[in-house]
Amino acid sequence: MTTQQRPALFLDRDGVINKEINYLHRIKDFIFLPGVFETCRLFQEAGFAVIVVTNQSGIARGYYTEEDYGILTEWMRQQFIHAGVPLTDVLHCPHLPEAQVTLYRMACPCRKPNPGMILDASQRHGIDVSRSIMVGDKLSDIQAGHKAGVGHLVLVHSSYEITLEDAQRAHYVAEGLGQTTAFAHWFLQGPPP
Ligand SMILES: [Mg+2]
Ligand SMILES: [Zn+2]
Repeated sequence: MTTQQRPALFLDRDGVINKEINYLHRIKDFIFLPGVFETCRLFQEAGFAVIVVTNQSGIARGYYTEEDYGILTEWMRQQFIHAGVPLTDVLHCPHLPEAQVTLYRMACPCRKPNPGMILDASQRHGIDVSRSIMVGDKLSDIQAGHKAGVGHLVLVHSSYEITLEDAQRAHYVAEGLGQTTAFAHWFLQGPPP
């Protein structure tokens, strides 16, 4: 049955793992935020998969290519491996309904706030979404997690404004993944949800 399913820590990328820079696509602009590896390690040791789900409409807009994205992603995965917390998977959606690049012009079920990436990854890796966590810096991340049935929704601050309404849609609000280390301790040591 579902007993072998494990929970996942789903992470948005920009504004959660790295400093938010619009349409980031170069390694030299990728700045890890504090606490990322520590938080991932805590959850990984507790049996969580760590899965990145990221909208990359910069590809649809023609600002960078799939190849650029792939190079950056491979580099990012290496950094996680060097830190001793290899990522289980990294999923991205390059689509946008109003894309400049026709190949990517579509309303994609994967583009957050839609839950497609979370659902795909959950099926692929045997994830129990109800025991999983979604961490994002935008309401669309929280909405995607909610639609996918993710049990725990965490909103972190980046350069985006968080309204009271946004905050109320999340279960936990933190300054960033650094503070989420405190969340991790609280979450993992508290009673089972
Ligand atoms: Mg983000
Ligand atoms: Zn897509």
